[in-house]
Amino acid sequence: MPRKSVDTVPSHPELYRAEVLRSVRLSPNLHRVTITGDALADFPWRGFDHWFRLFLRLPHQDDFQLPDLSGTGWWKHYRLIPKARRPHCSNYTVAEFRAEQREMDIDFVVHRGPDGQLEGAAAIWAVSARPGEPLALLDQGILFDKPADASEVLIVADESGLPAVGGILRSLPRDTVGRVVQEVPTTLDRRDFDGPPGVEVSWIVRDGSAVVAGAMALQALQSVTAVDPTAYAFVVGESALATSGRRHLHRLGLPKDRITFSGFWKH
Ligand SMILES: Cc1cc2nc3c(=O)[nH]c(=O)nc-3n(C[C@H](O)[C@H](O)[C@H](O)COP(=O)(O)OP(=O)(O)OC[C@H]3O[C@@H](n4cnc5c(N)ncnc54)[C@H](O)[C@@H]3O)c2cc1C
Repeated sequence: MPRKSVDTVPSHPELYRAEVLRSVRLSPNLHRVTITGDALADFPWRGFDHWFRLFLRLPHQDDFQLPDLSGTGWWKHYRLIPKARRPHCSNYTVAEFRAEQREMDIDFVVHRGPDGQLEGAAAIWAVSARPGEPLALLDQGILFDKPADASEVLIVADESGLPAVGGILRSLPRDTVGRVVQEVPTTLDRRDFDGPPGVEVSWIVRDGSAVVAGAMALQALQSVTAVDPTAYAFVVGESALATSGRRHLHRLGLPKDRITFSGFWKH
Protein backbone atom coordinates (compact mmCIF):
# COMPACT_ATOMS: atom_id res chain seq x y z
CA MET A 1 0.00 0.00 0.00
CA PRO A 2 1.45 3.43 -0.89
CA ARG A 3 2.35 5.33 2.29
CA LYS A 4 2.77 9.05 2.53
CA SER A 5 6.32 10.19 2.06
CA VAL A 6 6.88 12.51 5.05
CA ASP A 7 8.60 11.10 8.13
CA THR A 8 6.16 10.96 10.99
CA VAL A 9 8.39 9.94 13.90
CA PRO A 10 11.76 11.47 14.86
CA SER A 11 14.59 8.93 14.75
CA HIS A 12 16.33 10.74 17.62
CA PRO A 13 13.70 12.52 19.77
CA GLU A 14 14.99 15.79 21.18
CA LEU A 15 14.12 17.54 24.44
CA TYR A 16 12.88 21.17 24.41
CA ARG A 17 12.85 23.25 27.58
CA ALA A 18 10.29 25.98 28.04
CA GLU A 19 8.22 27.81 30.64
CA VAL A 20 4.59 28.71 31.15
CA LEU A 21 3.50 31.99 29.58
CA ARG A 22 -0.19 31.86 30.51
CA SER A 23 -2.89 29.45 31.57
CA VAL A 24 -6.55 30.01 30.65
CA ARG A 25 -9.81 28.05 30.76
CA LEU A 26 -11.04 27.63 27.19
CA SER A 27 -14.33 25.90 27.98
CA PRO A 28 -15.86 24.00 30.92
CA ASN A 29 -13.62 20.95 30.40
CA LEU A 30 -10.59 22.18 28.46
CA HIS A 31 -7.77 24.27 29.86
CA ARG A 32 -5.10 25.85 27.67
CA VAL A 33 -1.52 26.38 28.83
CA THR A 34 0.66 28.49 26.52
CA ILE A 35 4.37 27.81 26.86
CA THR A 36 7.32 29.76 25.54
CA GLY A 37 11.10 29.50 25.30
CA ASP A 38 13.94 30.13 22.85
CA ALA A 39 14.34 26.36 22.33
CA LEU A 40 10.88 26.22 20.74
CA ALA A 41 12.26 28.10 17.72
CA ASP A 42 13.89 24.77 16.78
CA PHE A 43 10.89 22.54 17.51
CA PRO A 44 10.30 20.67 14.22
CA TRP A 45 6.53 21.06 14.17
CA ARG A 46 4.92 18.69 11.66
CA GLY A 47 1.29 19.80 12.08
CA PHE A 48 -1.38 17.07 12.27
CA ASP A 49 -1.51 15.44 15.74
CA HIS A 50 2.12 16.19 16.64
CA TRP A 51 2.55 14.95 20.21
CA PHE A 52 5.21 14.88 22.88
CA ARG A 53 6.12 13.66 26.35
CA LEU A 54 5.48 16.50 28.74
CA PHE A 55 7.64 16.72 31.86
CA LEU A 56 6.21 18.67 34.80
CA ARG A 57 7.14 19.59 38.34
CA LEU A 58 4.95 17.84 40.91
CA PRO A 59 3.46 19.80 43.84
CA HIS A 60 5.87 18.27 46.41
CA GLN A 61 8.98 19.12 44.31
CA ASP A 62 10.76 22.40 45.14
CA ASP A 63 12.31 22.70 41.71
CA PHE A 64 12.20 21.16 38.25
CA GLN A 65 15.15 18.82 37.78
CA LEU A 66 15.46 16.97 34.50
CA PRO A 67 18.71 15.85 32.90
CA ASP A 68 19.16 16.34 29.14
CA LEU A 69 17.23 13.27 27.98
CA SER A 70 17.04 12.55 24.27
CA GLY A 71 16.91 9.68 21.80
CA THR A 72 14.78 6.59 21.91
CA GLY A 73 16.37 5.26 25.14
CA TRP A 74 15.20 8.29 27.18
CA TRP A 75 12.83 6.23 29.37
CA LYS A 76 15.66 4.22 30.95
CA HIS A 77 17.45 7.43 31.99
CA TYR A 78 14.22 9.06 33.16
CA ARG A 79 13.44 6.07 35.41
CA LEU A 80 16.92 6.34 36.98
CA ILE A 81 16.04 9.77 38.43
CA PRO A 82 15.24 9.21 42.14
CA LYS A 83 11.45 9.15 42.51
CA ALA A 84 11.28 12.15 44.84
CA ARG A 85 12.99 14.34 42.22
CA ARG A 86 11.61 12.74 39.05
CA PRO A 87 9.30 15.11 37.14
CA HIS A 88 5.88 13.80 36.15
CA CYS A 89 5.60 12.65 32.52
CA SER A 90 2.46 12.39 30.40
CA ASN A 91 1.50 12.58 26.74
CA TYR A 92 0.09 15.71 25.11
CA THR A 93 -0.57 17.15 21.65
CA VAL A 94 0.49 20.47 20.13
CA ALA A 95 -2.80 22.39 20.00
CA GLU A 96 -1.28 25.43 18.25
CA PHE A 97 2.30 26.38 17.42
CA ARG A 98 3.72 29.84 16.62
CA ALA A 99 7.39 29.41 15.75
CA GLU A 100 8.11 33.15 15.31
CA GLN A 101 6.78 33.92 18.79
CA ARG A 102 8.34 30.73 20.21
CA GLU A 103 4.97 29.77 21.63
CA MET A 104 3.02 26.54 21.85
CA ASP A 105 -0.51 25.96 23.17
CA ILE A 106 -1.35 22.73 24.99
CA ASP A 107 -5.02 21.91 25.71
CA PHE A 108 -5.62 19.79 28.81
CA VAL A 109 -8.85 17.93 29.48
CA VAL A 110 -9.92 18.88 33.00
CA HIS A 111 -11.31 15.64 34.33
CA ARG A 112 -12.88 15.01 37.71
CA GLY A 113 -13.42 12.06 40.01
CA PRO A 114 -16.78 10.83 41.30
CA ASP A 115 -16.87 13.53 44.02
CA GLY A 116 -16.04 16.31 41.58
CA GLN A 117 -12.40 16.57 42.65
CA LEU A 118 -9.79 17.33 39.97
CA GLU A 119 -7.90 14.20 38.86
CA GLY A 120 -4.70 13.56 36.94
CA ALA A 121 -1.33 15.12 37.74
CA ALA A 122 -1.12 16.91 34.40
CA ALA A 123 -4.60 18.46 34.56
CA ILE A 124 -4.00 19.56 38.17
CA TRP A 125 -0.69 21.10 37.09
CA ALA A 126 -2.31 22.87 34.13
CA VAL A 127 -5.10 24.59 36.03
CA SER A 128 -2.71 26.02 38.61
CA ALA A 129 0.29 26.68 36.28
CA ARG A 130 1.79 30.14 36.82
CA PRO A 131 3.87 32.18 34.34
CA GLY A 132 7.54 31.20 34.57
CA GLU A 133 6.85 27.61 35.68
CA PRO A 134 9.54 25.45 33.98
CA LEU A 135 8.76 22.31 31.97
CA ALA A 136 10.21 20.26 29.13
CA LEU A 137 8.88 18.27 26.21
CA LEU A 138 10.31 15.39 24.24
CA ASP A 139 9.26 15.36 20.58
CA GLN A 140 7.41 12.19 19.50
CA GLY A 141 6.23 13.11 16.02
CA ILE A 142 2.80 12.28 14.61
CA LEU A 143 0.56 9.21 14.72
CA PHE A 144 -1.74 10.19 11.82
CA ASP A 145 -0.50 8.17 8.87
CA LYS A 146 -2.96 8.47 5.99
CA PRO A 147 -1.81 6.47 2.97
CA ALA A 148 -1.46 8.60 -0.15
CA ASP A 149 -4.15 6.55 -1.90
CA ALA A 150 -6.78 6.79 0.87
CA SER A 151 -10.24 7.43 -0.61
CA GLU A 152 -11.57 9.12 2.54
CA VAL A 153 -10.81 9.64 6.22
CA LEU A 154 -12.84 8.53 9.22
CA ILE A 155 -11.71 10.23 12.44
CA VAL A 156 -13.25 9.39 15.82
CA ALA A 157 -12.17 10.83 19.18
CA ASP A 158 -13.22 11.77 22.68
CA GLU A 159 -12.15 15.10 24.19
CA SER A 160 -8.58 13.95 24.91
CA GLY A 161 -8.23 13.67 21.11
CA LEU A 162 -9.80 17.07 20.40
CA PRO A 163 -6.45 18.90 20.00
CA ALA A 164 -5.25 16.10 17.71
CA VAL A 165 -8.41 16.25 15.58
CA GLY A 166 -8.16 20.05 15.30
CA GLY A 167 -4.54 19.78 14.15
CA ILE A 168 -5.25 16.98 11.68
CA LEU A 169 -8.13 18.88 10.08
CA ARG A 170 -5.97 22.01 9.77
CA SER A 171 -3.15 20.00 8.13
CA LEU A 172 -5.14 17.84 5.69
CA PRO A 173 -5.14 18.82 2.01
CA ARG A 174 -8.26 20.90 1.26
CA ASP A 175 -9.62 18.30 -1.16
CA THR A 176 -9.74 15.54 1.50
CA VAL A 177 -13.17 14.00 2.01
CA GLY A 178 -14.50 12.05 4.96
CA ARG A 179 -16.07 12.29 8.36
CA VAL A 180 -15.18 13.21 11.95
CA VAL A 181 -17.07 12.02 15.02
CA GLN A 182 -15.93 14.17 17.95
CA GLU A 183 -17.28 13.54 21.45
CA VAL A 184 -17.15 16.28 24.11
CA PRO A 185 -18.54 16.58 27.65
CA THR A 186 -20.69 19.70 27.02
CA THR A 187 -21.91 21.85 24.12
CA LEU A 188 -19.59 24.62 25.29
CA ASP A 189 -16.55 22.35 24.76
CA ARG A 190 -17.23 22.30 21.01
CA ARG A 191 -15.02 24.51 18.87
CA ASP A 192 -14.78 25.62 15.27
CA PHE A 193 -12.47 23.35 13.32
CA ASP A 194 -10.62 24.72 10.32
CA GLY A 195 -10.89 21.63 8.09
CA PRO A 196 -11.41 20.64 4.47
CA PRO A 197 -14.99 21.42 3.36
CA GLY A 198 -15.47 17.80 2.27
CA VAL A 199 -14.87 16.46 5.79
CA GLU A 200 -18.16 16.46 7.70
CA VAL A 201 -17.91 16.96 11.48
CA SER A 202 -20.50 15.37 13.81
CA TRP A 203 -20.39 16.43 17.46
CA ILE A 204 -21.56 14.11 20.19
CA VAL A 205 -22.25 15.84 23.50
CA ARG A 206 -22.50 13.78 26.71
CA ASP A 207 -24.22 16.64 28.53
CA GLY A 208 -24.12 15.27 32.03
CA SER A 209 -24.94 11.69 31.12
CA ALA A 210 -22.93 9.35 33.33
CA VAL A 211 -21.43 7.30 30.50
CA VAL A 212 -17.65 7.00 30.32
CA ALA A 213 -15.98 9.42 27.89
CA GLY A 214 -15.62 7.80 24.48
CA ALA A 215 -18.55 5.38 24.89
CA MET A 216 -20.95 7.51 22.82
CA ALA A 217 -18.40 8.05 20.06
CA LEU A 218 -17.82 4.28 20.02
CA GLN A 219 -21.56 3.68 19.73
CA ALA A 220 -21.70 6.09 16.77
CA LEU A 221 -18.78 4.31 15.15
CA GLN A 222 -20.36 0.91 15.74
CA SER A 223 -23.51 2.09 13.96
CA VAL A 224 -21.45 2.45 10.77
CA THR A 225 -22.27 -0.65 8.70
CA ALA A 226 -20.03 -0.20 5.66
CA VAL A 227 -16.63 1.31 5.02
CA ASP A 228 -14.65 1.69 1.81
CA PRO A 229 -11.69 -0.74 2.11
CA THR A 230 -9.39 1.98 0.77
CA ALA A 231 -10.43 4.50 3.43
CA TYR A 232 -8.15 5.47 6.35
CA ALA A 233 -9.35 5.62 9.96
CA PHE A 234 -7.91 7.37 13.02
CA VAL A 235 -9.53 6.41 16.33
CA VAL A 236 -8.21 7.85 19.61
CA GLY A 237 -9.41 8.47 23.14
CA GLU A 238 -10.41 6.24 26.02
CA SER A 239 -8.88 2.79 25.60
CA ALA A 240 -12.20 1.00 24.87
CA LEU A 241 -13.05 3.49 22.10
CA ALA A 242 -9.68 2.89 20.46
CA THR A 243 -9.57 -0.91 20.69
CA SER A 244 -13.26 -1.71 20.08
CA GLY A 245 -13.42 0.96 17.37
CA ARG A 246 -10.52 -0.61 15.54
CA ARG A 247 -12.04 -4.10 15.88
CA HIS A 248 -15.35 -2.88 14.39
CA LEU A 249 -13.66 -1.18 11.43
CA HIS A 250 -11.53 -4.24 10.74
CA ARG A 251 -14.64 -6.47 10.82
CA LEU A 252 -16.19 -4.16 8.21
CA GLY A 253 -13.22 -4.92 5.94
CA LEU A 254 -10.83 -2.05 6.60
CA PRO A 255 -7.28 -3.48 6.65
CA LYS A 256 -5.43 -3.06 9.97
CA ASP A 257 -2.70 -0.97 8.32
CA ARG A 258 -5.36 1.57 7.33
CA ILE A 259 -6.42 2.10 10.94
CA THR A 260 -4.43 4.18 13.42
CA PHE A 261 -5.79 3.67 16.91
CA SER A 262 -4.46 4.79 20.26
CA GLY A 263 -5.78 4.51 23.80
CA PHE A 264 -4.98 8.03 25.01
CA TRP A 265 -6.10 7.14 28.56
CA LYS A 266 -7.80 4.32 30.42
CA HIS A 267 -11.00 4.56 32.45
C1 LIG B 1 -0.45 10.62 21.81
C2 LIG B 1 -1.30 11.17 22.92
C3 LIG B 1 -1.70 12.51 22.88
C4 LIG B 1 -2.52 13.04 23.88
N1 LIG B 1 -2.91 14.36 23.83
C5 LIG B 1 -3.70 14.88 24.80
C6 LIG B 1 -4.08 16.25 24.78
O1 LIG B 1 -3.67 17.03 23.92
N2 LIG B 1 -4.91 16.70 25.77
C7 LIG B 1 -5.36 15.86 26.77
O2 LIG B 1 -6.11 16.31 27.66
N3 LIG B 1 -4.98 14.56 26.82
C8 LIG B 1 -4.17 14.06 25.88
N4 LIG B 1 -3.78 12.76 25.94
C9 LIG B 1 -4.27 11.94 27.04
C10 LIG B 1 -3.44 12.13 28.30
O3 LIG B 1 -2.11 11.71 28.10
C11 LIG B 1 -4.07 11.27 29.42
O4 LIG B 1 -5.34 11.77 29.74
C12 LIG B 1 -3.18 11.18 30.64
O5 LIG B 1 -3.75 10.23 31.51
C13 LIG B 1 -3.07 12.51 31.36
O6 LIG B 1 -1.99 12.42 32.21
P1 LIG B 1 -2.05 12.48 33.80
O7 LIG B 1 -0.69 12.16 34.18
O8 LIG B 1 -2.64 13.75 34.27
O9 LIG B 1 -3.15 11.43 34.19
P2 LIG B 1 -2.98 10.09 35.01
O10 LIG B 1 -2.26 10.42 36.28
O11 LIG B 1 -2.44 9.04 34.11
O12 LIG B 1 -4.50 9.76 35.30
C14 LIG B 1 -5.12 10.07 36.51
C15 LIG B 1 -6.59 9.68 36.50
O13 LIG B 1 -7.30 10.47 35.58
C16 LIG B 1 -8.05 9.66 34.69
N5 LIG B 1 -8.02 10.29 33.39
C17 LIG B 1 -6.91 10.54 32.65
N6 LIG B 1 -7.25 11.19 31.51
C18 LIG B 1 -8.60 11.34 31.53
C19 LIG B 1 -9.53 11.92 30.64
N7 LIG B 1 -9.14 12.48 29.48
N8 LIG B 1 -10.85 11.93 30.99
C20 LIG B 1 -11.26 11.36 32.16
N9 LIG B 1 -10.42 10.79 33.07
C21 LIG B 1 -9.10 10.77 32.74
C22 LIG B 1 -7.34 8.31 34.67
O14 LIG B 1 -8.22 7.26 34.36
C23 LIG B 1 -6.85 8.24 36.10
O15 LIG B 1 -7.87 7.76 36.95
C24 LIG B 1 -2.95 12.21 24.95
C25 LIG B 1 -2.51 10.87 25.00
C26 LIG B 1 -1.70 10.36 24.00
C27 LIG B 1 -1.24 8.92 24.07
